[in-house]
Amino acid sequence: MNIILLGPPGAGKGTQARILVDHKGMVQLSTGDMLREAVAAGTEIGKQAKAVMDAGDLVTDEIVIGIISDRLDQPDVSGGAIFDGFPRTLAQADALSELLAHKGMALDAVVEMRCDDEALIERVVGRFTCAVCGEGYHSTFKTPQKEGVCDKCGSHDFKHRPDDNEDAMRNRLLVYYKETSPLIGYYHAKGALKAVDGTADIDVVTAQIAACLT
Ligand code: ADP
Ligand code: ADP
Ligand code: ZN
Repeated sequence: MNIILLGPPGAGKGTQARILVDHKGMVQLSTGDMLREAVAAGTEIGKQAKAVMDAGDLVTDEIVIGIISDRLDQPDVSGGAIFDGFPRTLAQADALSELLAHKGMALDAVVEMRCDDEALIERVVGRFTCAVCGEGYHSTFKTPQKEGVCDKCGSHDFKHRPDDNEDAMRNRLLVYYKETSPLIGYYHAKGALKAVDGTADIDVVTAQIAACLT
């Protein structure tokens, strides 16, 4: 099964994708994570993307479509892919449908995660992740069980994204409404769209997504 988690920054796409990876053996394809890896590795793509990402604007369609195309050639996607943060423009959505057709893969569902803006800002400003395994946390909503220690891997090393500040986040929201929210109508017209209440507790959202996938 291949699905898209569609929603504004902070809606919980990464959190729910990681739960699906653990429970269903699917793979998470996060263009944001892939771009951050390129930035950390200092590749040509990373150098082009860094300032754009810090400001909360979109990296070019050409770059992200190329990254996703390469990733879909790897064998592990045959167990099911969760697209997290991709597609973000209509051009990316069209490119994805061509790529999937070309690779003989179906798109089984697009799950829209609905959330209101003020909740999103609070979520993103409080977000941090484990620097070793990437597990996601929140200073209020999802703290590690033992303070300062990652639940998943025991690491003591956490990081906070440079674009998770209120200014960049307000721009990311504008970009979402302008460039990405038209995808809701696009996938609705294709008969693929389902929606969940992203403001509910994490485990409630997980159950709602599971219901969309049956
Ligand atoms: P996205 O990938 O959509 O940008 P994340 O999954 O990283 O969003 O979630 C953003 C922040 O909100 C994280 O700190 C995460 O721990 C927290 N979070 C995720 N889902 C919920 C939820 N349902 N309720 C409260 N906080 C949540
Ligand atoms: P969030 O879910 O919090 O919005 P992501 O990790 O998905 O954040 O993305 C972080 C940044 O990476 C985006 O603000 C954008 O600059 C860039 N990015 C990620 N995915 C895409 C994409 N599909 N198209 C263009 N830019 C992207
Ligand atoms: Zn960890």
